[in-house]
Amino acid sequence: MGADPGWLREHVRELPDHPRPGVSFKDITPLLQTPDAFAATVDAVVAPFAAVEIDKVVGIEARGFVFAAPVAYGIGAGFVPVRKPGKLPWHVEREEYELEYGVDQLEIHRDAITAGERVLVVDDVLATGGTAAAALRLVERLGASVVGVAVFIELEALGGRARLGTTPVHTVLSY
Ligand code: AMP
Repeated sequence: MGADPGWLREHVRELPDHPRPGVSFKDITPLLQTPDAFAATVDAVVAPFAAVEIDKVVGIEARGFVFAAPVAYGIGAGFVPVRKPGKLPWHVEREEYELEYGVDQLEIHRDAITAGERVLVVDDVLATGGTAAAALRLVERLGASVVGVAVFIELEALGGRARLGTTPVHTVLSY
């Protein structure tokens, strides 16, 4: 197992042309159902931030929640969900972001993060970066600072990192 997380790749199922031609979908369910692989993934996401002060971990619906909640627990931070429109019951901030066809929105509770807090944003996959960039804007609108974006998988060819400006991006596996 050790420090090299390469063996985790064996637990990611790649589905060519899913959900449409040209997309190689990364199915993380085999990893989630394998105890040592899931634990090692959470540990690998947490490790670079062990010495960093973090108040809140923001997880992006829905697969981001699966990693962000245990990461928050591991760091000793609070967990904050960023959700699709209409799901959160309290007062929200909303951000639009572009999809290949059309736009989508993300929301966060206004009282989930306090101005000045230090936030880590967590998701499963960084593809074009539109989703993570919208989550960053939500956090920054609440007056907090994003200390980093941590994802399990980065799809390098899609250039998502470039859309996140100077925010440090930590990835466990790159494709
Ligand atoms: P993006 O906004 O393009 O960076 O897309 C990121 C979001 O879409 C993440 O929340 C992922 O769950 C999902 N996603 C995008 N591309 C893939 C892929 N090839 N395999 C699995 N999930 C993906």
